[in-house]
Amino acid sequence: MHSIDMDLVEMTLDVMKYAIGRISNITPELGSPKKEEELLKMVGETITPEGIGGENAFKLFRDVLVKATVPIDHPRHLAFVPAAPTRAAIMFDLVTSASSIHGAYWMEGAGGIFCENQAMKWLVSLTGLPDSAFGVFTSGGTAANLSALVAARDHFRNTHPETRSKKGIIITSEGAHSSINAMAKVMDAEVHVVETEKDFFSGMDLQKALKVLNSDLRERIFAVVATGGTTNAGIIDDLKGIAEVCASEKIWMHVDCAYGGGALAAKSVRDLFNGIEKADSITIDPHKWLFSPYDCGAVIYKNLEIAKNAHSQKGAYLDIFKDEGAQGFNPADYQIQLTRRLRGMPLWFSLAMHGTKKYQWAIERGIELAKIAENKIKQNDLLELVRPAGLSVVLFKRKGWNADDYKEWTYKNHRDGFALVTPTKWKEEDVIRFCFINPDTTEDDIDQILETLK
Ligand SMILES: *Cc1c(COP(=O)(O)O)cnc(C)c1O
Repeated sequence: MHSIDMDLVEMTLDVMKYAIGRISNITPELGSPKKEEELLKMVGETITPEGIGGENAFKLFRDVLVKATVPIDHPRHLAFVPAAPTRAAIMFDLVTSASSIHGAYWMEGAGGIFCENQAMKWLVSLTGLPDSAFGVFTSGGTAANLSALVAARDHFRNTHPETRSKKGIIITSEGAHSSINAMAKVMDAEVHVVETEKDFFSGMDLQKALKVLNSDLRERIFAVVATGGTTNAGIIDDLKGIAEVCASEKIWMHVDCAYGGGALAAKSVRDLFNGIEKADSITIDPHKWLFSPYDCGAVIYKNLEIAKNAHSQKGAYLDIFKDEGAQGFNPADYQIQLTRRLRGMPLWFSLAMHGTKKYQWAIERGIELAKIAENKIKQNDLLELVRPAGLSVVLFKRKGWNADDYKEWTYKNHRDGFALVTPTKWKEEDVIRFCFINPDTTEDDIDQILETLK
């Protein structure tokens, strides 16, 4: 596959030129989706017996296909949870591919896994978990949540063998991410949703959780999933209270910080996470608020042995990896994947280059932008603040608008290539949601977006 011909040289130059141009452009064109038939009409069939050539294929991507995508790092992309990978991390994502490292076992991946572990050490230090704690990088929060919950149930079944044939139960709150339900399906576990506190401003209602714990469901409950920053509103559950309940009831406490995890590095809000240091497992997505390119999640365990018991794969051809000389940390043992990309390497390089203080600054900036937006909304007569900023999320309403108005506004801003901001629901009501991640977003961007709500 490696004979050097001219097409290969051209293709390589095109790709590098594009990559450098793209990461230098902080306001890339906001593309929008087209129907598949339409795209096919524009580019034709691209997979042919003879190949269409690298230069040609790349041109189709650069001139047509990428324009049917939305650059999630655009400074006026405030929808969903945006991402804003650093240039260093993106460049190192290319290096990660170019280096062809198999990230399952130390035997083959030692130098790369060392990088990942350096970054992981910093992540773990943010949680305040004891020194024995450690983690691995996954494809994202969904895979991290699944890995953690599989470990939790495995541990539960090993310590309560009488429950092995019964369906386990996970307790979580209304604000939990959809992946908890989805992964419970994968595991064939039940999810019991506890309401949030009545005021809707805080997270899981502990009294209600205790009621469930004292019910006849008790013997099947193997984990409580708390959320460290709900995706919709940035609400952090009472982690301290939940930790106390879990400790006295001897139940696994998982904290899903896929979105909010970056804020563990932000001094201004770190107190809100108190209690997280008591967790049995934690999910953090570096591809959300730690400026890594897609995809990169992380799962951290207080007790690595439990995770290893649950996840370590056995097979005759794998035994060699457990040999002398291959001694070291084997990421495959701690999450659901065997063959894996070294997803933590871009984060490592970027952290090593910039230092952790720069990360703290960039995360604080997201929190600050949410506060700035909150104040501007409060001062605007046409708008009504629905919830003060939660981490980097702000919810508000445009007075007099209904669901259709919000939808039309979203589509118009997107069609115009101006911004992508989407509505959500809060207490059954339609509201607008801003989620800030990108430190390149400016006050002027916020003003301009609010201006479109006139
Ligand atoms: C985004 C998110 C997830 C899912 O993570 P993916 O990386 O999309 O798989 C899980 N939990 C929370 C709280 C999230 O915000």
